[in-house]
Amino acid sequence: MTMQTKVIKITDPAESATDLKEAARILREGGLVVFPTETVYGLGGNGLSQSSAEKIYAAKGRPSNNPLIIHVHDPAEADKYAHAGDLYDRLAAAFMPGPLTVILPKRECIPYATTGGLDTVAVRCPDHPIAQALLKECGDFPVAAPSANLSGKPSPTVAEHVITDLSGRVDMIIDGGESDIGLESTIVSIDHDHEGEYLTLLRPGAITADALTCVCERVVIASAVLEQLKEGERPLSPGMMYKHYAPSTPLVLLDGTPEDVLAFLQKEQADRSCAILCYFEEMPHLKHENLFPVGGKDDLATQAHTLFSLLREADKAGASIMYAHLPPLDGLGLALYNRMIRAAAHTILQVP
Ligand code: AMP
Ligand code: MG
Repeated sequence: MTMQTKVIKITDPAESATDLKEAARILREGGLVVFPTETVYGLGGNGLSQSSAEKIYAAKGRPSNNPLIIHVHDPAEADKYAHAGDLYDRLAAAFMPGPLTVILPKRECIPYATTGGLDTVAVRCPDHPIAQALLKECGDFPVAAPSANLSGKPSPTVAEHVITDLSGRVDMIIDGGESDIGLESTIVSIDHDHEGEYLTLLRPGAITADALTCVCERVVIASAVLEQLKEGERPLSPGMMYKHYAPSTPLVLLDGTPEDVLAFLQKEQADRSCAILCYFEEMPHLKHENLFPVGGKDDLATQAHTLFSLLREADKAGASIMYAHLPPLDGLGLALYNRMIRAAAHTILQVP
């Protein structure tokens, strides 16, 4: 699969109307366009077209039973493609446009190729000026888009990651600079039991469980968010099944007091070549070789913003092992924890 990939840089969508029209035309005619969003870059195709979905899976090297998220410019558009209801409307009013994806029963116009064979479809309305302008230009169809990385690589947060992974595999890449958030959207499904309606958190992201509680009192965290799936277990969200963000250098997450972890890292640096995703505060106390500062110890937003880039970089350092701190489980920490335990294949070392 090799095609000519056009890379265009956009800073102000108003000044790039012609390029955005061309991108929308490519999508309408069944081609693939990578576009920036506030979470990570998306690999877009026409969400109403079976062949576009098949092309997305092929370009990513992704199993075709791992469903795609459809993107709309206005949360109200969801009703054209899915059966939205009152709770969706309340979520939309609180968090859209923004980094939230909601799973809804699909309408017939959405092909099973887009939903990986499911009767539900994931809907998101991104809050990024370029994504918004592109989706408005598309108008009469939603854009199906998974993250624009090769399957198994960290999600791309700058166009260079996309160019590395997908050059020659897509028609166009829109370079819109760095993704603001750096982690994929929060995914929830709307569920019911004898006590009434509740939300299941399928993938944590920048919209935290606490924030969701303001709209729906009951938020249940799916077990696959925190734990490894058991042999033969089927996750509620198919993406949780796959090995994700796996660096080729083994990644180990360190759990312990800040003093114990620092002492451990100092000893490891003396003993062998390791790449360390450290906090800013630790830099003066460690040798500078192969240090990858993720942000301040309590600055989870910066850690989220830098994580995927640093995983790619640290993996190139040629070290025999990679270390990072085990994130906390609350707030945005849950999203970091979820991505990092998967990158580390659930390897957590208690220090000392
Ligand atoms: P990505 O586009 O790479 O962020 O991945 C999208 C993820 O959304 C998939 O891997 C699934 O886990 C999840 N997803 C999409 N559609 C559905 C759905 N209908 N039901 C449950 N999870 C979904
Ligand atoms: Mg992905």
